[in-house]
Amino acid sequence: MTSLTASHAADLVAALLFVLSLAGLSQHRTSRAGVVYGIAGMALALVATVVLAARSITVGAVTLIVVAMALGGAIGLWRARRVEMTQMPELIAVLHSFVGLAAVLVGWNSYLEVEAHGRAQTRIGAGLLGIHHAEVFIGVFIGAVTFTGSIVAFLKLSARITSRPLTLPGRNALNLGALGAFAVLTAWFTVSPGLALMITVTALALALGWHLVAAIGGGDMPVVVSMLNSYSGWAAAAAGFLLDNNLLIVTGALVGSSGAYLSYIMCKAMNRSFLSVIAGGFGVEAPSCGAESQGEHREVRAAEAAGMLARARSVIITPGYGMAVAQAQHPVAELTRRLRGRGVEVRFGVHPVAGRLPGHMNVLLAEAKVPYDIVLEMDEINDDFAGTSVVLVIGANDTVNPAATEDPASPIAGMPVLRVWEADQVVVFKRSMASGYAGVQNPLFFRENSSMLFGDAKQSVEDILAALGTDGRQEPTPAARQATAAGR
Ligand code: NDP
Repeated sequence: MTSLTASHAADLVAALLFVLSLAGLSQHRTSRAGVVYGIAGMALALVATVVLAARSITVGAVTLIVVAMALGGAIGLWRARRVEMTQMPELIAVLHSFVGLAAVLVGWNSYLEVEAHGRAQTRIGAGLLGIHHAEVFIGVFIGAVTFTGSIVAFLKLSARITSRPLTLPGRNALNLGALGAFAVLTAWFTVSPGLALMITVTALALALGWHLVAAIGGGDMPVVVSMLNSYSGWAAAAAGFLLDNNLLIVTGALVGSSGAYLSYIMCKAMNRSFLSVIAGGFGVEAPSCGAESQGEHREVRAAEAAGMLARARSVIITPGYGMAVAQAQHPVAELTRRLRGRGVEVRFGVHPVAGRLPGHMNVLLAEAKVPYDIVLEMDEINDDFAGTSVVLVIGANDTVNPAATEDPASPIAGMPVLRVWEADQVVVFKRSMASGYAGVQNPLFFRENSSMLFGDAKQSVEDILAALGTDGRQEPTPAARQATAAGR
């Protein structure tokens, strides 16, 4: 077998491993296997690419590639070990920006290579030069949009800039105008390529990527994250065409299409059309939503919440971003075990956009070994809140906001939410009366059957555990007495 055939066979196996990886990652039970398939596929792809490259380039160049891979791998490993779960979305945004930048550099390199060697002497046949130029132009465009879009997403998700949408006058016309200009420039470049056109398309796409994401605000950010995921896939596929690398084309297409499907699922979960998300402007706080107009809220302490749980028949826990911030999943899992040990029915209701990245809550609950069969999706559990004794809202806010269903003027109107307020009693764990990610005040906090348990969610759950005693029966343990005395 020649090294070329072996390399193509390796590409095929790696592509199959990536498909298996995506299939595995779509379910809790198979997600570990999915990660292993993905790692195996990527390792094989890297070896195959270097081996193939070694046929046509010098030993020095191969050494440089291996050194770059080792350096990049070491930085990646270092970052992955240090990153907090709450910083994952911004890390993902940064990684998407690298894919975008790589596609821009590959595109520019491809253009300059053809120019440097003279169009007649390239490996690309004269008849295919026009197609090659179109590939270069499209690759640079998608890559540059992904690059700046991902940087803005990173800045918004890490709260380095405001998450409010930038609402320039005529922003839709600006976006459409940029797309129209790109189509005209592509046609022009295909017949008459030139440096000025390359610079123009790069600048245009960088500005468009920046504006597209800057115009999207608040609660629409989940769609942006998955949308940029999709763009980074298409950028990689475009780079694959330029590098004549089939595996990169297949992998890019897999990432691009699965990211597009995820964006569709997110839009459905938020009852938003994809086009209206792209058009932006969502997430501006309505003046009528201020806390002062909502009335009085009621506070409870951990010992009182423990009392409610000790008397409950059924409990639903709805986790949100605050559970991730507090890293409260382990005491929450322990609370679940104790209550179930006492014969209380405990289930979890997970909103599709809870937290800051798709599947965020599921990952945390799986890490804390909460059984999968009691973790239910919003659609599976929403009708069960009525008739439930106690709901514990642990660090969730936007995803349990009744304004979404009851106030047509609310900025999140129409977004399906967990109907926690239909339960007999609701205990909301958070540190203050502050609004959630979308910047919208939450009328749930002022309902008659709602109580606020202020403090860090992990500490509050630990205080409840202490108050409940070891077997789940509420007992005045020393820790409980301490928690009550400390006013928690
Ligand atoms: P929210 O962001 O709406 O609210 C989280 C709440 O947690 C805050 O109100 C905060 O209140 C509280 N909190 C923070 N830290 C702690 C802590 N240590 N202890 C206790 N409470 C804490 O969360 P949701 O999960 O309900 O909603 C997710 C939001 O994020 C949605 O708007 C969604 O659109 C958006 N989003 C989701 C993404 C995704 O892919 N899932 C990606 C990007 C955005 P306080 O400060 O008072 O404690």
